[in-house]
Amino acid sequence: MPNPVSRQLRLYNSLGRRVEDFVPSGDVTGMYSCGPTVYAYQHLGNMRAYVSADTVRRALRWKGFTVRHVVNITDVGHAVADTDLGEDKMEVAAARERRSVLEIAEFYTQAFFDDIAALNILPADAYPRASAYVPQMIEFAAVLEARGYTYRLPSGLYFDTAKFPRYGELAQLHVEGQLEAARVEQVPGRRRKTDFALWRTEEPGRRRVLRWDSPWGWGAPGWHLECSVMSIALLGPHFDIHTGGVDHRELHHVNEIAQSEAYLADGKPWVRYWLHNEFLQLGGAKMAKSAGGAPLLSDLVAAGYHPASFRLFLLGGHYRSQLEFSTAAIDAAQATLRRLAARIQPLRPLPAIETLDAAQAAAPDPAAARALDQIDAAIAADFNTPKLLAALSGALRDPAITPDGLRTVTAAADALLGLGLASLDPADLDPADLGRRRAADELTSEDRHAIEELVADRTEARKERDWARADQIRDELDALGVQLTDTPDGPTWQLR
Ligand code: AMP
Ligand code: ZN
Repeated sequence: MPNPVSRQLRLYNSLGRRVEDFVPSGDVTGMYSCGPTVYAYQHLGNMRAYVSADTVRRALRWKGFTVRHVVNITDVGHAVADTDLGEDKMEVAAARERRSVLEIAEFYTQAFFDDIAALNILPADAYPRASAYVPQMIEFAAVLEARGYTYRLPSGLYFDTAKFPRYGELAQLHVEGQLEAARVEQVPGRRRKTDFALWRTEEPGRRRVLRWDSPWGWGAPGWHLECSVMSIALLGPHFDIHTGGVDHRELHHVNEIAQSEAYLADGKPWVRYWLHNEFLQLGGAKMAKSAGGAPLLSDLVAAGYHPASFRLFLLGGHYRSQLEFSTAAIDAAQATLRRLAARIQPLRPLPAIETLDAAQAAAPDPAAARALDQIDAAIAADFNTPKLLAALSGALRDPAITPDGLRTVTAAADALLGLGLASLDPADLDPADLGRRRAADELTSEDRHAIEELVADRTEARKERDWARADQIRDELDALGVQLTDTPDGPTWQLR
């Protein structure tokens, strides 16, 4: 059993907006992350949510907690623009692409799995599909109705937020203030603008593609219902951690809490810790599907970037800070990762380390133990990945650490970072598009900088008498069409 100090993990709880010690409720830490609506590709902004959740998961593992992680797949019920009325996002996509709703869902679910695998995100224990839980959602809504938390309208069954006094606590929402909220639409007959649909009854004459019979007529569940029902079904009535993007803190999670606590009716908070990642931004605004042009991971790969470079770019920012996406930033991340991989290559193979206890047991020298403490302190301080990266770079430059110590420290850091440092090949991290631009004789200053960095890496390898690495870098430069000449004043280069 690890000692309590080594288990200390501080995290920022959106519920109450303060940093707290994480104290699990039992032997297994239940964690639920709001997953994709599979009507389109998930963009790089969405990926930030999944990498952030993965960092939390890796941190829990590091601290010796056993985690059960559930990520939902929304394949029904999410109306266009997060509202309660109108068409379902899935059905609009099916009509647009002339495919069936199920084909659309299957296609984009697979694309999501491909992306998260490419980003080295640990697979969840379950990926429940909303469409498989509709009978349970109907039962859940019926319980709320029996308890008097709802009212019926022709458009469906609504949750009456006036009946739930703590409504909006998570968002620190002043219900009156929300009357002005842009996302809230006009629903005829709705008593308060915060009231939301539990069931969306089909309009007469407008038959839905995916439809279920219910006590409130044929139709589909409201969007928020699935997360309450599936998390409770798979993690038990109360669980430890719920994650999602910061947009969910304002509406979706507020509604999940209201309906779940009304359903459970045991006076206890439904979920103790709510973690929200800030947005990945593009041009100063939230990267979003509806804005159009939100880049995908596959776009980055096609442009010559490694998925791990994008992951490093994300981890270079704290999850609770907004992060601006740009080509220059991802170029810089790929160059940094390349340097890291080249530095680590001669240390391989790395040991298999996942936990702080295992790392401490393996630390063969005091300098490595100090670096492990820094890594642990960084992750335990609300998942401070920028600090963790700095601790790893510092260790790799520290002459006091033995090669075995470095192996332990690198493996430990990567158990948290998930960059794949045990096997990343620097040759897979060449400056993106350099070959193509070189052919067109249009090297940018970044390209020149990248080449000069490679040349400098080689010079350093030669100084360290690491001939294998020096030769390998020369081969890589050669493959890029760069011809290197060693002179008494150092190496010079030119394009062939
Ligand atoms: P969706 O498929 O739109 O329901 O979103 C899936 C997840 O991505 C949710 O947790 C969202 O909060 C999150 N998300 C959406 N856009 C961004 C963004 N630009 N930056 C970070 N997270 C986002
Ligand atoms: Zn959700």
